[in-house]
Amino acid sequence: MSFTIGLTGGIGSGKSAAADLFAAHGITVVDADIAAREVVEPGTACLDAIAEHFGAGILLPGGELNRRALREIIFNDPQAKAWLEALLHPAIRELIIQQLNEAPSPYVLLVSPLLLETDQHQLASRILVIDCDESEQIQRAAVRDNSDAERIKAIMATQLTRTQRLAKADDILHNHGTLEDLAPQVDALHQEYLQLAKAANY
Ligand code: ADP
Repeated sequence: MSFTIGLTGGIGSGKSAAADLFAAHGITVVDADIAAREVVEPGTACLDAIAEHFGAGILLPGGELNRRALREIIFNDPQAKAWLEALLHPAIRELIIQQLNEAPSPYVLLVSPLLLETDQHQLASRILVIDCDESEQIQRAAVRDNSDAERIKAIMATQLTRTQRLAKADDILHNHGTLEDLAPQVDALHQEYLQLAKAANY
């Protein structure tokens, strides 16, 4: 498997912004959120299993998963949530591993909001945490998602706290300033990761 850097951070902390900067260096980015959507696309075994378990009413007229309906079911039913996670987590992990294996760049970035909350962190040789104040996080995510602070806080409550996350970091990107302040930090880490990847492949 490619030398893998796991990038994580709370909602709105700047994961996507940082990933774009690594991608600009030619680094392949594997996104756990995208993998999570791909495993339930029409025609997948997971979507078939979901439709069988919850009934065809869980599908939209076009055959896609009705995410909102599914979210509502699992919000109110812990058993359904456990069933769904037991189905999806291994499938997402398998797809991520496949994408990590296929990555052509010297090292690969695995971006995941739940890297440390799930076993996905086991796929990474190094943990990179992007950090900013919680007030900045809420403000940026609320603007991006056209959402309110309460909703963002509810999502944050399902994620590790800032202190817990930072305690697990090998490297930290400090995203308190502007996006221009982020780029030189990524540039420096990129050089370091190239060296580490080279050493790991000997
Ligand atoms: P995540 O992927 O961690 O949820 P994003 O990378 O999407 O977070 O960042 C959240 C929002 O904040 C985006 O609209 C992004 O453009 C913006 N953003 C990120 N970092 C900064 C920054 N340093 N200054 C201003 N806006 C930022």
